[in-house]
Amino acid sequence: MSETIAASFADLNLAPAIFKVIHEVGYETPSPIQAQSIPPLLEGRDLLGQAQTGTGKTAAFSLPLLSRIKPKLKAPQVLVLTPTRELALQVAEAMQTYARHLKNFHVLPVYGGQNYTQQLRQLARGVQVVVGTPGRVQDHLNRGTLKLDELSAVVIDEADEMLKMGFIEEVEQILQFAPHERQTALFSATMPKEVLEVARKHLQNPVEIRIKSKTSTVEKISQHFWQVKGLHKLDALTRILEAEEIEAMIIFVRTKLATVELAEKLEARGFSSAALNGDMTQMLREKTIDRLKDGSLDIVVATDVAARGLDVPRITHVVNYDIPHDIEAYIHRIGRTGRAGREGKAILFVAPREKRMLAAIERATRQPIKAMALPSRKDITDRRIGLFKEQIARAMESQDLEFFEELIDQYQSEYEVGHRKIAATLSYLLQKERPLQPEERFAEELPPEKPEPNTQKRPARKLDSEMQTYRIEVGRAHGVEPGNIVGAISNEAKLNSRNIGRIRLFDQFSLIDLPKDLPAEQLHKLKTVWVCDEQLQISVDSGEKQPRWDKRKERKAFGKGTLGRKKSPGKSPLQRRGGKKRKTDKA
Ligand code: ADP
Ligand code: MG
Repeated sequence: MSETIAASFADLNLAPAIFKVIHEVGYETPSPIQAQSIPPLLEGRDLLGQAQTGTGKTAAFSLPLLSRIKPKLKAPQVLVLTPTRELALQVAEAMQTYARHLKNFHVLPVYGGQNYTQQLRQLARGVQVVVGTPGRVQDHLNRGTLKLDELSAVVIDEADEMLKMGFIEEVEQILQFAPHERQTALFSATMPKEVLEVARKHLQNPVEIRIKSKTSTVEKISQHFWQVKGLHKLDALTRILEAEEIEAMIIFVRTKLATVELAEKLEARGFSSAALNGDMTQMLREKTIDRLKDGSLDIVVATDVAARGLDVPRITHVVNYDIPHDIEAYIHRIGRTGRAGREGKAILFVAPREKRMLAAIERATRQPIKAMALPSRKDITDRRIGLFKEQIARAMESQDLEFFEELIDQYQSEYEVGHRKIAATLSYLLQKERPLQPEERFAEELPPEKPEPNTQKRPARKLDSEMQTYRIEVGRAHGVEPGNIVGAISNEAKLNSRNIGRIRLFDQFSLIDLPKDLPAEQLHKLKTVWVCDEQLQISVDSGEKQPRWDKRKERKAFGKGTLGRKKSPGKSPLQRRGGKKRKTDKA
């Protein structure tokens, strides 16, 4: 077992069709468990592999076993047992991807709770790989609907989890169905003695691989969460971008559409950023990643899938703008920072109803996730002032200012004011577009106007017949609370809050009861009012329950009044490069 360890996938003798995918999915070098597992598995040896979560075990067994598949043979040749339905789906999906260039290849996930008929139909059609949870696999074996005569390999994935969930007995029974001549691989993050016993009993002369958990990557990453409250996530993110020392940041959102939307919103606020999602061509994705690597781009908004395997040492910050669906995804996301021995910071936005996920993540990573307060108005002022001073110093050093010095002397004698006054006035003018002291509303992180808890059902002061239900395009997903809506509407439409009726919040929009006789002028005014970074776009409710994307696009076309910000003093370094799109040079 003293072979040299492969430094590149090209040295691993994988089947050409499989090798081709590795480049496509963006893996550059094999992870340690992969480098050590692939050669023996390709040789047909049994294997006992221990490596912590997130080290690439799926590919460690999939790539070699898929390399040995006979696509023409329409019978299960590889069986992978996983402890949960989610893992079964995840592994099946990964294998389908790795096998994308094998013609007529099929992988079937089977798990409890899933419709039998569909599974049977697919089994009958012929699949080469079955990935399943022990219970359901055993069911199929007992019913005779799954036959393992042609099986050449069994993988027991996450064996320690299997043990915890009480599946070991089923696993052992399933192994009885498999041909004696098969190959067996067992992977586990930890090696409790019960797992070792199974291995001893069912593996033949296995290669043993143990990847030392070098203090898990997670430990180099300081983890924080911000409880979404009283402020929209976009505003929170903007503050973080302004106040933190960031070299490069990756922001995770849930959908492809959201990557584009958020990147555009950040652009509008002066932060040059790009989306990274699975809808983009491979070429465009690579280009974006290259720009992130070479420093011509600092902010990327990505989906989990698109950022898989992303390795850019410059990334100092990961923001989980939308909480991930599962813990593995979280670990993978934050692992995009703290690379190559550097330190990283991970920030998670948690809505009140997502608290449970936060606790689950903390438990699974065995690392504390600290509550963070958003940078305060003072923090941001301080940083803007710091940057402003730097800017002055830099210009003073690098520019020939004689012409301007004379101009100031001239002004001073003509108007008889001191240098101090002139400098102050010029500073004021320079920062006017984006004040060194952020607007007042910055100060209000915590409940701005906390509504009484039952505002949702506030009694209409007018008779119901005098009210009309209106729809506004801001909802729970944007972090809105009834109080924000009441506040905005009573201020902007000069409407007494007594005349604001019931408010019902939905995900993407809300319904609000207002007087029927609201003047058109007031309504018109309300269309363009911003709440939680969304324009109200108020309209008479038609009962439709969909978000109105067309409206959103329309608004985007107008953009927000941030022109010129990219040229304001004291702008954060992340905003510096953003000037390509907007030309506001007047000087
Ligand atoms: P484990 O089973 O050890 O917990 P996974 O197999 O789920 O880990 O892999 C974790 C992540 O790492 C996945 O997103 C996978 O696509 C990615 N990955 C696997 N191998 C590589 C590699 N060689 N280079 C980059 N990323 C990889
Ligand atoms: Mg795994």
